[in-house]
Amino acid sequence: MNSSGRSRATRAFGSAASYGSEGHVNVLVVNCGSSSIKYSLYRMANGESADVLASGLVEKIGEAVSRIHHKVGEAREVRDVSAPDHQAAFGLMIKALAEGPAAVISGPGEIDAVGHRVVHGAEQFTHSQRIDDAVIRALEACVPLAPLHNPPNLTGIRAAMALMPNVPNVAVFDTAFHQTIEPHAFLYAVPYELYAKHRIRRYGFHGTSHRYVTEKAAKVLKRPLDDTNVITCHLGNGCSVTAVSGGKSVDTSMGMTPLEGLVMGTRSGDVDPALAFHLIRALGMSVDQVDNLLNRKSGLVGVSGVSNDMREVTKSAKDGNERAALAIRIFCYRLKKYIGAYTAALGRVDALVFTGGIGENAPHIREGTCRGLEPMGYCMDYARNASNPRGVQDLSTADSPKRILVIPTDEEGMIARDTARIVAGQ
Ligand code: ADP
Repeated sequence: MNSSGRSRATRAFGSAASYGSEGHVNVLVVNCGSSSIKYSLYRMANGESADVLASGLVEKIGEAVSRIHHKVGEAREVRDVSAPDHQAAFGLMIKALAEGPAAVISGPGEIDAVGHRVVHGAEQFTHSQRIDDAVIRALEACVPLAPLHNPPNLTGIRAAMALMPNVPNVAVFDTAFHQTIEPHAFLYAVPYELYAKHRIRRYGFHGTSHRYVTEKAAKVLKRPLDDTNVITCHLGNGCSVTAVSGGKSVDTSMGMTPLEGLVMGTRSGDVDPALAFHLIRALGMSVDQVDNLLNRKSGLVGVSGVSNDMREVTKSAKDGNERAALAIRIFCYRLKKYIGAYTAALGRVDALVFTGGIGENAPHIREGTCRGLEPMGYCMDYARNASNPRGVQDLSTADSPKRILVIPTDEEGMIARDTARIVAGQ
């Protein structure tokens, strides 16, 4: 890192007021998985507006041949690379951002802060957090709760710190938004000691997305955030639904792990827990096989036998595949039941919000979910829904007692904004 970069970072984040003098700051947002790093470099003009300068993905980290996908505007580049570990992948990512004809910065010194998506913050983290040694120790303590997700997140944090030792890092947690859920909603009815001693409880995930669309919905509805009640449906590869009261999460469908709740691409969502005992005792499966079956072989792909991708399942259903059609019916029916339950939990609901790849793009899923909810006050304009308009949309009829909104999510932009705000000391 060059010395001018250091002074720039110090200037940019020296005080809350320094935004104005510098004009902008560059925030790198990273999402580290076990064998991949997704990244986006944001230029933040005033802590609120965020332009993506470049984005990409390093995948197959640790394999003989890794690959980088790098995107600047409409230009995309895909190259085979050597990334034996995450630190090497981080180096490649910075090189892609800073070198060659498509460079968007002149060197790592132009990166002012790094925002990390962290899956599990357990009960320690109720908000995004600037990362220091104590935060790293707390994240290590969360590993037993998220053994698949938190270790690669920590690896990414360590790689960023090693390569850019003077650049501040911020952790943005999938669980944080749900830390306002009260015990009657987050406790499972199992022996209380399991919570007291082992922190076994509902945590909920996708919090950054649910928070983003909640804040956006309050603006669309022209309501103060602390008087906004919404049910937010994040429907992507993973799916979850959250009941939000006064801008705060009060219940959510994912549980101690992201397996509980809605039907997802490869995950079953809710099942009778005794199903696991049966698979082990009667079908002779191992614990790992049951884990794999419920997390990777169930959901849309398990029922349809076609794909975990809603586009493929939809196409197959249209071609007459009855199991694909059934998978879609189960998907919508499960979501509809949750909406009913959360409407009861909230009492007053201002809007139902759809987001995520499926929520934003699949009108038949929105219709399949909302058909029959009219007596509860959710009245969809089905023709308008079918036209699938882009961007933020109100799909309810003019006289619907409750609004039905589509709000494209922006988890990475939210991470960039949190990072810029926290590092600026705001
Ligand atoms: P992730 O959870 O990995 O961020 P996304 O939010 O991108 O995933 O959502 C991925 C899901 O969105 C996939 O099931 C995909 O099929 C679905 N999807 C994307 N576009 C459409 C579309 N036009 N119609 C139906 N489903 C879609």
